[in-house]
Amino acid sequence: MQSTGFRDTGRFVRRAASPGIFTPANLAKLMRCLEPDANVALPIRVRGAGSAATDCNESPAGTVLHTTGLDRIISIDNYNHTVTAEAGVRLGTLVAALADQGLELIGSHDQTERTLGGALAAPCMGPGIGEQASYLSSQVVSMKVITVSGRVMNVSEEQQHLLHAFRISYGMLGIIYEATLRVRPITTFTASHRSVSTGKFADVMDRLSNANVGLKFYVLPHRDRVYLDLRRYEAEPGNAYQAPWKIKDWGESTVLPQVFKSLSRVVPIPSVRYQLIDSISAATHGLVNTRFVKNGNNASGRRRRKTPGNLQYSTWCFPASDFSLVVKAYAEFCRETFARSGYRCDMPAVGFRVGKDPSALLSPSFDDAVIALQTTSTQRQGWDDFVIDLNQFAENWGGTPLFSESRAFRAEYATRAYGSRLEFFRKIRRQLDPEKRLLNPFLAQCFA
Ligand SMILES: Cc1cc2nc3c(=O)[nH]c(=O)nc-3n(C[C@H](O)[C@H](O)[C@H](O)COP(=O)(O)OP(=O)(O)OC[C@H]3O[C@@H](n4cnc5c(N)ncnc54)[C@H](O)[C@@H]3O)c2cc1C
Repeated sequence: MQSTGFRDTGRFVRRAASPGIFTPANLAKLMRCLEPDANVALPIRVRGAGSAATDCNESPAGTVLHTTGLDRIISIDNYNHTVTAEAGVRLGTLVAALADQGLELIGSHDQTERTLGGALAAPCMGPGIGEQASYLSSQVVSMKVITVSGRVMNVSEEQQHLLHAFRISYGMLGIIYEATLRVRPITTFTASHRSVSTGKFADVMDRLSNANVGLKFYVLPHRDRVYLDLRRYEAEPGNAYQAPWKIKDWGESTVLPQVFKSLSRVVPIPSVRYQLIDSISAATHGLVNTRFVKNGNNASGRRRRKTPGNLQYSTWCFPASDFSLVVKAYAEFCRETFARSGYRCDMPAVGFRVGKDPSALLSPSFDDAVIALQTTSTQRQGWDDFVIDLNQFAENWGGTPLFSESRAFRAEYATRAYGSRLEFFRKIRRQLDPEKRLLNPFLAQCFA
């Protein structure tokens, strides 16, 4: 069932609620969907671009509210360096509008298709330079939230604890309708690229994870290769040209998944196919990470681009202080799993350092810096079994799962990993939504 004009007529006839999808186009319609007497099936889950890898944005037996109809950028304040926008605005649209005014988002945020609301309610993170805040939600100054009873609630920095709870709250405390974020004038960084073996990477990892650099890397475990992308602010980095970054972004996020998907159809022999795949990955990284992709900023190459729909991915966060060991173990795990089960990921795993950031109660790097490691593949068959092994690996190495990005994690383990912070969040959730109207069975495993 699809409806954009929920209860439009003003006359409301109560009938048995059936599962539904609504795309409210304005605040009044969004509020009406949540009112206690609205005849909507429960639970209600809110959904932005739907790019999360878990069921956090699903409600097959209840109601899903799509925010993509709420897509106005309300104001850009070039004096105080803030932007105010509705939750359904795509990050790429926001980046483009800010760039027109000489401004950029703080932090490095890919996946430009996602919505502002989804990026604030889930850990939208990237390789921040130094201790620069790594989550987009850390930059929120205030939010307009629709409560579970359909009322508007303002949450600002003055209610610090409440704001901490609402950042990265996965839509369990209310629905973000509008947010004001800090932004900044476009700032140029310099990037340098290196290709090293896994062992060499592990050797320099400790130094890198403490250095004042933005660290992102691509791991090819079956080639024993790691491609490094290091970013720092320098006194005079020169001009940032857009074109090379656009090509890099296009090569990494669009070309590789499409090519690999096609290869799995036309080259049926796995050994030949995977050799080809690794060679293409290596060549692409060699090509796109050249000296031309040297100076950049947080707007470079980040115009809105649709994420290919055929990607399977799962992300876990590992303590940065242990990652020199974890990366070697991960490469070994991939090779051993392939030898045993015949399954391997065709895309390189992507990792980046996320600085310590306690600005959200459910921040995965609340206590210390972490490395987010995203395993990605276009190969559907065998993926579910691989994910179970990957989860076991992650648990063994003290990984922290993300409720929106770690596939099929064990609820018991996640509850332990977030410890007393999760318990505190649960108390706030129970106060704000005692009847669990916003809680689906997936989230209830940890948050009921
Ligand atoms: C290939 C790929 C790579 C990715 N790489 C990264 C990465 O590098 N870094 C990263 O951080 N993420 C990454 N992601 C994950 C994903 O993009 C993020 O989780 C994103 O923040 C979700 O935004 P969305 O608009 O798609 O939200 P959805 O997936 O629709 O929702 C995510 C969560 O937010 C809640 N939510 C959505 N809108 C609102 C709202 N208005 N109010 C309250 N709650 C809301 C939902 O209920 C759900 O719990 C990747 C995803 C893909 C497909």
